[in-house]
Amino acid sequence: MTYNGPLPSVTEETEGFFEAARNGVFALHRCAHCRTWYWPASACRECPNEPFLANMRWEQASGRGTLYSVVIPRRTFHPAFPAPFVYALVKLDEGPLMPCGVDVPPEQAKVGLPVEAYMVKLSEDYTVPRFRALST
Ligand SMILES: [Zn+2]
Repeated sequence: MTYNGPLPSVTEETEGFFEAARNGVFALHRCAHCRTWYWPASACRECPNEPFLANMRWEQASGRGTLYSVVIPRRTFHPAFPAPFVYALVKLDEGPLMPCGVDVPPEQAKVGLPVEAYMVKLSEDYTVPRFRALST
């Protein structure tokens, strides 16, 4: 099936994330100095004396987390996203919160549900993560 929906806006700050995603890797910004993880991309708040962004890397993360906050739109606002669907803040195991689509039935989308990222190829140039219930 061809995806005809909106595509993410890739910027200088996010191109490392999308490059990793194209290779099937769930990556987060990480400080090479203190090893703190960040999403979205950021300079390290723990290392204010490091050169701006010079110590930041895109590194593979677990892709696992739990649902922190859940939104279930009941009205379709774009044909690419038929309602109802689940959109959530995922509390990643590494610490950051990531807003993302979650592929679970709305009635299962409860705060605290363990989830894992997987990659969805939207086009030749765009692959994005989504989350699904963690398979145990
Ligand atoms: Zn740091």
